[in-house]
Order: sequence, then C-alpha cells, then structure tokens
Amino acid sequence: MTSGAPRSDAGSRQARPTYAGPAEARPHTLRRSLRALPKAHLHLHFTGSMRHQTLLELADRDRIHLPDQLVSDWPPQLSAADEKGWFRFQRLYDVARSVLRTEADVRRLVREAAEDDVRDGGRWLEIQVDPSGYAVRFGNITAFTDLVLDAAREAERETGLGIAVVIAANRTRHPLDARILARLAAKYADRGVVGFGLSNDERRGMTEEFAHAFAIAERAGLMLVPHGGELRGPDHIERVLRSLRPTRLGHGVRTGEDPDLLRRVIDAGVALEVCPTSNVSLGVYSDLSSVPLPSLLAAGATIALGADDPLLFGSRLAGQYATMRAAHDLSDATLAELARMSFRASRAPEELRARALADIDEWLEASPVADDGPDEV
Ligand SMILES: [Zn+2]
Repeated sequence: MTSGAPRSDAGSRQARPTYAGPAEARPHTLRRSLRALPKAHLHLHFTGSMRHQTLLELADRDRIHLPDQLVSDWPPQLSAADEKGWFRFQRLYDVARSVLRTEADVRRLVREAAEDDVRDGGRWLEIQVDPSGYAVRFGNITAFTDLVLDAAREAERETGLGIAVVIAANRTRHPLDARILARLAAKYADRGVVGFGLSNDERRGMTEEFAHAFAIAERAGLMLVPHGGELRGPDHIERVLRSLRPTRLGHGVRTGEDPDLLRRVIDAGVALEVCPTSNVSLGVYSDLSSVPLPSLLAAGATIALGADDPLLFGSRLAGQYATMRAAHDLSDATLAELARMSFRASRAPEELRARALADIDEWLEASPVADDGPDEV
C-alpha cells in the first residue's frame, strides 16, 4: 500500500482477497476472526476515542462549526512531518475537545469507546486523558478526573470491559503543570488510575524537565508511559529511558533504528505501544508495510497494538491487528501472541488477564473460518 491507499478499517477490508471458491482449495484464505481475539488496548486517547458520528451530533446540537476535514473530508489527511503539520493535527483535536460540554457527553464518549472496544474483542482498556484540557469547563482537574473515573465505572458495568485511566501531561506545557498532574494521578493510584503519561509533539519541550513529575508518579506505584520514539528516533528514546524510566513507551516504534537500543529496551522489559494506522496517518511511515512490526517482534520486543486516536485516523482496535495482518501477512499464531503481549504489558487484574490468556489459546485452537464475513475486520 502507498500513503495514498485507504487507511480506514473499511479500506483494509477492501485490500483483502475476496471469497473466490471452496475453502479447502484456498488454505491461505482461512483466517480466524480478529474481532473474536481477546485484546487489551493500552494506547487510546480520551478525546481521540470519540466516534465520528458523536462528534457530528454534538457539534450539530450546539451549532459548533466543524472544519471540512472533520465532516466531508473525514478521516482527515494528516502529516506531522513538520511542526506545521502537527499544529494542524492539534487544531482538529481542539475542535473535537470543544464539543464535549456536559457530564452526559463525557459519559457517552467513555461508554461508546468501551462499546467499540468490546465489539473489537477488547477485554481491557487503559484510556489516556489530560484533565487540564477540560478543567475550565468541568470545574477543575480533580472534578473532571472524578467524572471520567465515574464514567469508566459506569461503562464497565454496562459493557463488561475492564477500564483503567492513565493521566497524561502535555509536553508543550510547563513541567510544573506535569507535576500537578502527577500528584493528581498519585492521589488516584488505587482508585482507577494506573499510569502517568506525557503526550503531544515529541519535538517540543525538554524531556529531562519532566523527570520530577515522573518520579512523583513512580513513587505512587504508577506505570510510567510517556510517548517517545514516534516523531523522533533513537536519540530521543535514549533520553526518555534515562530521564523518565518508562514502563512502556507510547509508540516506541522507531526503537529498532538502533539495534543496541532495542536490545536495552527489551532487556529492561519496556513494552512498546505500537499504533500502525496513526504512524501512517501522521507520515511517520509512508505505508503500513513499512511499519517495522516484524523486525521488532523478531528481536523479542513486547508490543501492544493501539489505535491512538480513532477519531482522526479512522481505525479502531481490531483495525490495527487487521492492517498488520494484511501488510505483513502475519500468521494467526503471531496475532495471538500480540494479543497475549497486550495483556502482559497491562495492569489488568490477574483474574481478567488469566481468563483472556486462556481465551486467546482457545481462539488459536479453534478451526479458522473460510471468510471473515462482512462484519469482521
Ligand atoms: Zn498517543
């Protein structure tokens, strides 16, 4: 596929061979349903998880003007190759954030994100949120965090998905803001918050200046999950490792550009949250087959596939597995191992994890079906 090829889940369906005869005659088309494969989703942003239809409905309700890129030209053509491109991406994000105006809107977003993950085989979700972006509208960062956590509990009850929250600071803001958020995350450490992240343009801000915030989160026993190794390569990953001591790297997909560094990441047990459609949408790679998943797997990296921002990239959780299956001809055994790794790298409760791992084995032991059918990815 080229960068101009379809990037949505629908696109990946079109790219697959169509049913053309008896299954016995075409063993290569036998495949297990990826939606039936249990998964943990470890890289999903709160705002970016919004359904496109919900964005349209909420904007319509409050007469909020949406740019064409979020309406007729959706999903938008993006590129973060330069800072201007990233700025345009952030502008769309700001517009999406602006449509969430009531508590009911927040509850709807979390419930729909959970429903979509369940439909895609999700059993466990760690959703990432920066409460400061919503503080003014919902009172303050504590009130908003309370609301998100309550919405998550409600969505768990309604959908059966296990949900935890990662509080993320913004690297384009002052490091003192990150400390405030780290203290907030620490306060909720045993009450639904499992990690502390750092997001936004990797090329901005001084990573070292966020070390203090990450130390606060580390002392609280939280996972440390900063973004790194997406828009920048090994030099920056090195700095993230040294300064922030990550449990997982948000993306980290470029770690393999330095084999010694990759070895260190693997030896340190740092998992990579690889988000293939995001990488291609933002121009990190020109096409899906260039996302270096096979070489990372071959080296022994622990990888959890994630959707990052489905609202802007047009592809959700199962779509990541489907695009990688199609681009790299991954076997079902490899896909099952990817799913296992997503649970191993998560903070899912032991019982949920054990059940999911057993169900993944069962998925792989079952006979593949001849065709995914129209509802499968
Ligand atoms: Zn992200």
